[in-house]
Amino acid sequence: MAKSIQVTNIRHGNPGVSGWYAILQEPEPADVLEKDINADWLVIGGGFAGLAAARRLLQLRQKERLVVLDSIRIGQGSSGRNSGFMIDLPHDISTDSYVGAVERDIRQTQKNRYALSFAAEAAEEYGFTQEVFNPCGKINAAASDSGERHNLEYMGHLKAMGEDSTWLDEEDMKRITGSNYYLSGLLTPKTITIQSAAYIRKFAEGLSRNIDIHENSPVVSLELTGGVWKAITPKGSVTAPKVILSVNGHLQSFGFLKNRLMHIFLYASMTRELSDSEVRKLGGEPSWGAAPANPFGSSVRKICGTGGHRILVRNKFHFSSSLEASEHHIKKTVRDHDRSFQRRFPMLEDVEMEYRWGGRLCLSRNGVPVFGEIEKGLFAACCQNGLGASKGTLAGILAAEHACGYENPYIEDHLNEAQPTSLPPEPFATIGATVYLNWQEWRAGLEK
Ligand SMILES: Cc1cc2nc3c(=O)[nH]c(=O)nc-3n(C[C@H](O)[C@H](O)[C@H](O)COP(=O)(O)OP(=O)(O)OC[C@H]3O[C@@H](n4cnc5c(N)ncnc54)[C@H](O)[C@@H]3O)c2cc1C
Repeated sequence: MAKSIQVTNIRHGNPGVSGWYAILQEPEPADVLEKDINADWLVIGGGFAGLAAARRLLQLRQKERLVVLDSIRIGQGSSGRNSGFMIDLPHDISTDSYVGAVERDIRQTQKNRYALSFAAEAAEEYGFTQEVFNPCGKINAAASDSGERHNLEYMGHLKAMGEDSTWLDEEDMKRITGSNYYLSGLLTPKTITIQSAAYIRKFAEGLSRNIDIHENSPVVSLELTGGVWKAITPKGSVTAPKVILSVNGHLQSFGFLKNRLMHIFLYASMTRELSDSEVRKLGGEPSWGAAPANPFGSSVRKICGTGGHRILVRNKFHFSSSLEASEHHIKKTVRDHDRSFQRRFPMLEDVEMEYRWGGRLCLSRNGVPVFGEIEKGLFAACCQNGLGASKGTLAGILAAEHACGYENPYIEDHLNEAQPTSLPPEPFATIGATVYLNWQEWRAGLEK
C-alpha cells in the first residue's frame, strides 16, 4: 500500500546557543545529503535515541548499510543542550517526588541501567574522556525544609527498591559545591554526568567510521511504495525498507499522535570561564552535578576542562503546543537564572552568564513512550518523558532490536505500554499546562 507523509515542522525551534556546544571546537563542515541513495536502514534523528539505535543496528546487522539523517548539526538538538544527567533511578519529573510504584521503578531502573551500560561501552570504544562521560553519581540537593522532606521521601523509596544512597549534610554540601546554600543532599552513585554536546558529537563521530551520517538534512516527506520507504530531504533522498523514527516530539510533525504529545521547553544558562581567583573563592570540588530535590527546582553543574571552570544553572519550564520557542522566551528566563545563581554563589557576584539557551522535552500525559512499528517498516523510539539521556538511549536500543526481530524482555514491556492519552483541546491545553507549571515553580520556592 502506498503512503505519503508530509513533514510539517522542519525548523529545529531551539532558541539560543547551547554552552555545551559553544565551548567545543567547531566541528568539520556538515556532510549534507545531496544525492539519492539506497540503504538497508534509515534512522531519522541523531539524538540519544537515534544514535543508540544506529549503534545497536551496527552490532546486529554488521554487513548492512545504515544511514542517519538529522535536520540540524548533531549536538545542537535537545540531546546536546540538556543538563547532562544520565540517570539510572526513578526520576519522573511530572510528579511531586520523582517516584512511582516500587515494582515499576525497580523495573525501570533495570532498563535504564541496560541503557547506561550500553552508553558506557560506547564511551569506552570511542574513547570519551571523563569530562565527557563521568560515572560520578548525582546529588539531589536540598535548600529548604521542603526540599529535605523530598529527599527523605526519595531515600525511603530507594530503600524499598533495595538501592543505596548517601545522605550528605550541610558541611558535605559546602565541601563539594563551595556553596553555603544547601542544607543537605542525597548522593546516588550510579548516575553518569555527561558533557551533552561532546557526548553526542563524539558518539556520532565513532559511528561515522561505519555509518553515513548526514546533518543539516531534514526529512521533508516520507513515502512508502512497494514496501520500501523513501525519505526526501531538500537536496536528496534515502530509500530503505526499514526506518527508525527517533525524533522525539517531532513525531507530531510527521503526523503521528496529534494532540497526544506535550512539548515542554526547559532553559539553561552557563557562566563565562571563571578566573583562577574566582575558582579559589568558590572552593568545592572541580566538577559536580546537583539535581533539585524538588523536580521544579534548579539543576546546577560545575564543570572544568574544555572551556575552563564554569557553572550551569537550569530551571524554568514553558509549554508550547507548536514545538517552537523564541529568543523572547530566553529573555524571560534571565531573571530566574541569575537569581538562582546569585543565591547559591554570592562569592561570584561579578560572574555573568555567557550562554543562555532553551530546548525541548516531550512528555505524554500518562507518562508512556511511543514505541514500536507504527507503520509497516517504520519504527518509533519517541516521547522520552523528560529523561531522554537514559530513556532515549533505551528506546533507541530496543527499537533497533525490535526491528531486527531480536528478543529482549524489555521490548515486551515497551510494547505493552498504553497509548499516550489525549490532551484537552487548545487553548485549554496551553492554559492548563502553563498554570500548572507556574504553580509548581512557585511551590519549589528556594529549591529554584
Ligand atoms: C535544558 C534541558 C535540560 C535537560 N536535562 C536533562 C537531563 O539532565 N537528563 C535527561 O535525561 N534529559 C534531560 N533533558 C531532556 C533530554 O535532552 C531529551 O529528553 C532528549 O534529548 C531526547 O532525546 P531524543 O534522542 O529522543 O530526541 P532529540 O534529542 O530531540 O533528538 C531528535 C533529533 O531528531 C531531529 N529531527 C527532528 N525532525 C527531523 C526531521 N524532519 N528530519 C531529520 N531529523 C529530524 C532533531 O533535529 C533532533 O536532533 C533536558 C532537556 C533540556 C532542554
